[in-house]
Amino acid sequence: MIRVNEHYLKLTSSYLFSEIARRVDAHQKAHPEEPVLKLGIGDVTCPLPPACVKAFRRAVEEMGEEASFRGYGPEQGYPFLRERIASADYRERGADIDPDEIFISDGAKCDNGNIQELFSQDVRVAIPDPVYPVYLDTNVMAGRTGACTDGRYEGIVYLESTRENNFIPELPEVPVDLVYLCFPNNPTGATIDRARLQQWVDWAAANRALILFDAAYEAFIGDESLPHSIYEVEGAKEVAVEFRSFSKTAGFTGTRCAFTVVPKDCKAWDAEGNPHSLHRLWHRRHTTKFNGVSYPVQRAAEAVYTAEGREQARALIEGYMKNARFIRKEMEALQLDCTGGENSPYIWIDGRMDSWKFFDMLLEKAGVVCTPGAGFGKCGEGYIRISAFNSSENVHRAMERIRKALT
Ligand SMILES: *Cc1c(COP(=O)(O)O)cnc(C)c1O
Repeated sequence: MIRVNEHYLKLTSSYLFSEIARRVDAHQKAHPEEPVLKLGIGDVTCPLPPACVKAFRRAVEEMGEEASFRGYGPEQGYPFLRERIASADYRERGADIDPDEIFISDGAKCDNGNIQELFSQDVRVAIPDPVYPVYLDTNVMAGRTGACTDGRYEGIVYLESTRENNFIPELPEVPVDLVYLCFPNNPTGATIDRARLQQWVDWAAANRALILFDAAYEAFIGDESLPHSIYEVEGAKEVAVEFRSFSKTAGFTGTRCAFTVVPKDCKAWDAEGNPHSLHRLWHRRHTTKFNGVSYPVQRAAEAVYTAEGREQARALIEGYMKNARFIRKEMEALQLDCTGGENSPYIWIDGRMDSWKFFDMLLEKAGVVCTPGAGFGKCGEGYIRISAFNSSENVHRAMERIRKALT
């Protein structure tokens, strides 16, 4: 008898986006004359930077010529891309990361889930609340939790992000081995400064814990004082793995390219207390279970680092950030308490009512789709997330509708 992985049966949260879709669909059918404006999605809307398209095309042409055709590439990624990343994303910012420590992949989402394979089944895991659902769901699938009751999985340490702590969780008060952090944050848009990040790194070092740092939104940081990478903080190379992606940085959500940094100094221990290099283990996993991102996609990603590409990617981000600042200003003008939208494409809004109620109200009265905060965890209850990923025209139209509906 073929049996299922019963941990999958504990999952609850796929309900969020299907429930949103269901309600939007029903609303649209009832009001076909007024197309809804979608500010709920966490997906980019602008096309790829022209420099990336050019490099992508050229690489496809190379693949069609005998002299320049390439078969399997290195599983960890081509040196041309890893070297660019090490120098532009790390060394230029004072973080001493070697190209060898960078693993190119087809997504930060997959890497986030896959990295767990390196850890013992019984590690104690701490996950922020609210949170990008992938961290939690992949731990559930891996069997690291008990059942879900009242919105919380047994066995997980929840790190609460609330207005009281400026949406930056406190250090855990109970023993923890693995911690997920994401800054700038999805969904709250909160950022972390160097001093606070240093406290986390010091805590991890003192507890022989590991931080999985998701920096998918680092490109949205405008404030010069904020760290883009956890490796800008002293000692982080020993205790942190970092996830990055070209998805939000350069519009690669449909093209697929990301990378994970596993420093050679990063360790995990066996039952006897012997240290093991995580770099070696991840290298082993990556080369065994992955055959590399396609050559043209890696060339397209490389183009993000050319002068032209940087300029174009920056312009994309600036467009979204203009939307974000506008949304935040409009929400504050309606006397709503907000965070995010300053160094992040997400604005986290205290609706002062049930998340789904606020969602329904915006949909009914304004024809605008947001994301109910409750879908990201218990601490998201009462909040909604508005995303800046849309055209400036749609964002202005949506804010005008909300203004009319709420005043
Ligand atoms: C969008 C996003 C990613 C990027 O995932 P990809 O698989 O690289 O597209 C990673 N982390 C968070 C928190 C995100 O919102």
